[in-house]
Parts: sequence; structure tokens; C-alpha cells
Amino acid sequence: MKVAILSRNKNLYSTRRLKEAGEAMGHDVDIIDTLHCYMDITSSRPAVRYHGKELPEYDAVIPRIGASVTFYGTAVARQFEMMGTFNINESVAISRSRDKLRSLQLLSRKGIGLPRTGFASKSDNVKDLIKNVGGAPVVIKLLEGTQGIGVVLADTAKSAEAIIEAFMGLKANILVQEFIKEAGGADIRCLVVGGKVVAAMKRQGAEGEFRSNLHRGGSAEVVKLTKEERETAVNAAKVMGLNLCGVDLLRSQNGPMVMEVNSSPGLEGIEKATGKDVASMVFQFLEKNAKPHSTKTRGKG
Ligand code: ADP
Ligand code: MG
Repeated sequence: MKVAILSRNKNLYSTRRLKEAGEAMGHDVDIIDTLHCYMDITSSRPAVRYHGKELPEYDAVIPRIGASVTFYGTAVARQFEMMGTFNINESVAISRSRDKLRSLQLLSRKGIGLPRTGFASKSDNVKDLIKNVGGAPVVIKLLEGTQGIGVVLADTAKSAEAIIEAFMGLKANILVQEFIKEAGGADIRCLVVGGKVVAAMKRQGAEGEFRSNLHRGGSAEVVKLTKEERETAVNAAKVMGLNLCGVDLLRSQNGPMVMEVNSSPGLEGIEKATGKDVASMVFQFLEKNAKPHSTKTRGKG
């Protein structure tokens, strides 16, 4: 197969590992810098151009699109879909996953366990918004935050109100969420490839930190999932329409709760914590599934 990895940086662990794994399995793997792709979107024969030339036909693309380039990155991914290239994570699914509110609404519709979450744009009902998710302490999140930045724990209703009003004053979109205290500053990252959890790790926040993000100094270790956790992760990936994703769960008194679904999950933390070769599993999935003209949406929707 001829495979393109859309990535801004060929030196990133995940990008390098995917290329290595694909090549070790006999595939031809190119790393394409997403922002250097350009295209004639009106052409009857869609193509992607790169450094002055039309890109060759690929059997599959693996988009690794950072949160800051979602808009352009999904447009490039969509162009590949229009060309009939198999895209492991369709552009529509990536867009869905980038918006926490939209993701939670979709997951909730399918009955997947979620922390109680509220959303409002005006500050006139902030007290009720807090009460409605169970009262303080609550977690307040910027809708498009990532790596733990923009996730705040408010211990009291008073501080929650003040933080919510401050964010609203800045016209930032936020979620207000029940704080799952019993998770103990830990979450579970489930790496899903093609509808299966292929690796899972528990991330524990640094001492005194409720956020378990590795970027915030958290540490990771391998974890054994319950059947319910496994099913929740698989269902969440399915609802989002992602073949390759990281589903983050909190262990709550009421069972697993999905916090977010990440469409460009990092491979370094999970491969190192579990010793699993996730990159090769991605290519095994492509070997079975990357047929031309078989993406579901082809950029629609
Ligand atoms: P980001 O996209 O920035 O990673 P998350 O929603 O994943 O934002 O939140 C970051 C971390 O904060 C999570 O990994 C988790 O450890 C903690 N956290 C988030 N929401 C809650 C919650 N409702 N209850 C308890 N801990 C939470
Ligand atoms: Mg997270």
C-alpha cells in the first residue's frame, strides 16, 4: 500500500512510529505536512498539490491533525476523501470530536455514560446551571481546550460562579461538569483501532492535581479494563465514527464515564506504558480495510 501520514512534524514520536511500522510491513509511507498541502477545490478531478506537484494516488491517509489546525487539516483530509482515498478518520468525524459539546451530545444520544454536563452562553442562570449538574465542586472546561489547559476545578458555588462569569465575559464557550471525585485524579485512556481496544493505560495526575494529562505532569501505567469499560470505549469510538482514537474514561461510582474522544491520540505514552505496538495495529487495520472509495461520507455532512 501507499500511505500518507498527514502531520506537521515528521519528528513527532507518533508520526515516526507510524512510518517505521508501515515500512517494516512493506508499505510505502510518506509524511505530508498538512499546512503545505493546497488544492484546486473546483476541479472535476480533485487532487492535492504539494511543493509544486500533484501528490500521487494513495491507498490510505492517516490524518494526525493538531487542535490548532483542525479547520485546514479537515479540509485537506476531505479532499483526499473526494479523491476516493481511504481516510482512517474521516474529516467529519474529526470535526465532531474536536468540539466537546457536540461530542457529548452525540454520546449522550446513544446512552453512553457521561459526567452530568451543562452548557450556557449567558450568565443570567449560572446558579441554576451549577445546581443542575449537582452543585459544587464542579469542573469548568473551555469547549476547545486541550492537554488540560482550560480545565478548572471550582470547589465552591461562589468560585464556580466567578470563573464561569469570567469565561463568559471573554466570550469563551464553556462546559460545566459534575466533578468525579472518586476518579482520584486519574483517568483511563483506551486506544481504539478498528472497533477494538488495543491498549489501555491509567494516567494519574501529579500530586495535588486533579487533571491526569501527561502534559501536566501525570504518569501512566498499564491497566486492566472491565468488560463495561471496554464496551463503553468501543461504543464511543463507533458513535464518533473514528477508526483510530483515544477514548478517555473516568472511573465513577456509576460506572465508566466518557470524558472525551481524541481523534489524533498520541502513541508515545500508550506504547511505552503498555509495551504494545499500536502503530503496527493501525497498519494491520489499513491492510484489511483501506479500499478505494469506501469512506462513508466522502466529505459530506
Ligand atoms: P483536555 O482536552 O484538556 O485533556 P479533559 O476534559 O480531558 O480536557 O480534562 C483534563 C483532565 O481533567 C482529565 O484527564 C481528568 O483527569 C480531569 N477531569 C476532567 N473532567 C473531569 C471531571 N468531570 N471529573 C473529574 N476529573 C475530571
Ligand atoms: Mg483530556
